[in-house]
Amino acid sequence: MPALSAARPRDDRGQRRDLSVTTAVRHIRSGGQKKGLQTTVTAEITAEVERLIGAGPLDDIDFEAVETAARQMALRIMGHAVAKRLNADHSDETGCVVCGCGAEARYTGRRRKTFTTALGPLILERAWYHCEHCAEGFAPRDRALGLDSSSLSPAALRMTGLIAASVSFAKSSELLAALAGLDIDPKLVERQAEALGEAIAEDERRVIEPEPSKAHTLYLGLDGTGVPVRKSETQGRKGKQPDGPPKTREAKLAVVWSADSRDHDGNPVKDPDSVSYNAAIETAAIHDTETEPPPFAKRVLRELERRRFRDAPRQAVLGDGAAWIWNFADEHLPNATRIVDIFHAKQHLFDAAKAIYGTGTDLAAAWGKQRRDELDQGRFDQLLAALQEHADSCPEAQRTLDYFTNNREKMRYPDFRARGLCVSTGVLEAGCKSVIAERLKNSGMHWTVNGANAVIALRCAIRSNRFDDFWERRATG
Ligand SMILES: [Zn+2]
Repeated sequence: MPALSAARPRDDRGQRRDLSVTTAVRHIRSGGQKKGLQTTVTAEITAEVERLIGAGPLDDIDFEAVETAARQMALRIMGHAVAKRLNADHSDETGCVVCGCGAEARYTGRRRKTFTTALGPLILERAWYHCEHCAEGFAPRDRALGLDSSSLSPAALRMTGLIAASVSFAKSSELLAALAGLDIDPKLVERQAEALGEAIAEDERRVIEPEPSKAHTLYLGLDGTGVPVRKSETQGRKGKQPDGPPKTREAKLAVVWSADSRDHDGNPVKDPDSVSYNAAIETAAIHDTETEPPPFAKRVLRELERRRFRDAPRQAVLGDGAAWIWNFADEHLPNATRIVDIFHAKQHLFDAAKAIYGTGTDLAAAWGKQRRDELDQGRFDQLLAALQEHADSCPEAQRTLDYFTNNREKMRYPDFRARGLCVSTGVLEAGCKSVIAERLKNSGMHWTVNGANAVIALRCAIRSNRFDDFWERRATG
């Protein structure tokens, strides 16, 4: 859980600043608590610590029990003080306020509600207003304190979002209890994490703040990976499996990075902290009837703007053989070097070797190795000739031959390497795994498209170091 010093309340200019324990106590004191709070708290703490540790030799104490109990106590004391301070302030009673609908809402008394906060459950009493026009009530203070979207406080919501981005909702609930002492039901974790992810997705569409870049070469990697979804999400769609409807939907991923660093052998190496991710289950296909780019293309364009991609002196697009990737590059990045990710290219050769000589055979291994060497060394004519030999008898060999013939210009690896370009996108491969698969493709998971996209948005923001910026905008907006 974050340290208290990480809490940054807004001052009256809307600026946020650090709040230490001392100033927190001063805040509590200055607002109506005349004197004695600190003294009382200190005395209470000293007495409780004595009681916890006891009079015996220290060698005998169960320190874990002491630290756990002491932390709970600290939270309880501060929680109590904070709630008391907030509840003593009745400045939110103003007779009437303007409702969101524009009509006047009338004050009807104070209402209690329990919020889950980083300090544990707090009961807050807020002035309640009723709007006759909407036939609904609300507490203006909830909005002021960032409590209007749920029963979770901002800090509790942030913890929930960060943990649910990493592990299942059930596991998140367990860890929140074990680590932060928060009692949040898995269903609530799910709802809140999804709402947060949707807010991040909305923020990503709305806010494009170009980030400074000094990179000489910027890379855009595009890839897709299947996410297991509920039956209802695939109805009416064509499946990959011949025996029935599809069980997955494709999440598409755009990764931008630079690799101006070099290893000992002079090969390009991904620059630390240069990677950003943007992904969603979204269509990238262009329909004749539509005049605007498909949703995923728009997403990639936003990412390119954010990264000032077109300002880079050199640009490259990497991907597998999928048509939409090269269509996108043709339309939007005419100056970029197009490169088929060598990992994908070699995968095609593995598959062809298996189809021709049988899985796991020595012949398949030897043939596959030769073809991969030819690919690495730019002996493309030999590679195509070797595939041609089997094209008539093996459909997979024919498919592979077509693939290599069609993408030949994008597989000039010796040339790309000589120009210091990255050809093996460990970055792209790892991106699909770390952004999508690790969280969304575990056994037994069946996502709704909305739910998957919310969690993907959350993960992308965190992995791209953009979560804090989003949170800042959310708190101040
Ligand atoms: Zn209203």
